[in-house]
Amino acid sequence: MTFKIDLHSHSYFSDGALSPEQLIIRAETQQVSHLALTDHDTVAGLVEANTYSQASPLTLINGIELSTTWNNQCFHIVGLNIDPNDSTLQRGTLLLGQTRFERAEKIAYKLSKRGIPGAMDYVLKKAGQGMITRSHFAQYLLEENHVSSFQNAFDKYLGDGKSAFVSTSWVELETAVNWITDAGGQAIIAHPLRYKLTTSKLKRLLTAFKLAGGAGIEVVTGNNNPDDIRKASQFARTFDLYGSVGSDFHSDKNKWVELGRLAPLPHDIKPIWDLF
Ligand code: AMP
Ligand code: MN
Ligand code: MN
Ligand code: MN
Repeated sequence: MTFKIDLHSHSYFSDGALSPEQLIIRAETQQVSHLALTDHDTVAGLVEANTYSQASPLTLINGIELSTTWNNQCFHIVGLNIDPNDSTLQRGTLLLGQTRFERAEKIAYKLSKRGIPGAMDYVLKKAGQGMITRSHFAQYLLEENHVSSFQNAFDKYLGDGKSAFVSTSWVELETAVNWITDAGGQAIIAHPLRYKLTTSKLKRLLTAFKLAGGAGIEVVTGNNNPDDIRKASQFARTFDLYGSVGSDFHSDKNKWVELGRLAPLPHDIKPIWDLF
């Protein structure tokens, strides 16, 4: 099997459309050799993922994508090669699950104030035993014809500062990095250019992340253009961070993002998998 790695993906244990089993089957079809399942704030899908990957040529990497707060803004930290049974990490996910539940109630309340009732019942049912996310709310708004597209739900209601946005205190960035490293994993700053930070603020973020023990930065993500890859690579060099690559695959409905379909890391960037 040739080497094809994808270190960022979601199942229906958070806001992905597929079960861990379906995700692994799809990854196999795409000839992915190494896949990390990195659901939002939960390790619950990793049990099923490990069960199915055992009979597969694919190597599964135990991962998570933690929601963190730094400077009053939310940043995503991917943890790779974590021990899913680590008790501190597990307690952390319980806390984040509670935070997500309470935020969901507030989002639902804001929507009801705007003439859209019933969202909480829907997202609870839809998320099932997985984490409730804004993607579930977006799906509800779309199904109920309150928005013209999934993206429009964020632009109109759910995005930062929009009418049903709820500012949330997640786990501190430094704490999240500790949870990951103490669970034997590597902490990676996810999709660094999606936060729309000024260069100086992004540099301050990376300084704090590096100081906290962060290992890597996602240099290549699902819908990266060459310019983003160049910029992220430059940050990897400046801050002496390993480079990661991950599609951030959520659903087979998004034609622009496919498991394992990623540009290669630039040659001088140290691959995060050198630490595996
Ligand atoms: P949450 O972690 O609950 O805030 O939900 C965030 C998830 O919603 C992200 O992981 C994306 O999958 C999706 N998302 C966030 N912002 C947007 C956006 N502007 N457009 C489309 N999807 C988004
Ligand atoms: Mn997501
Ligand atoms: Mn993310
Ligand atoms: Mn993600």
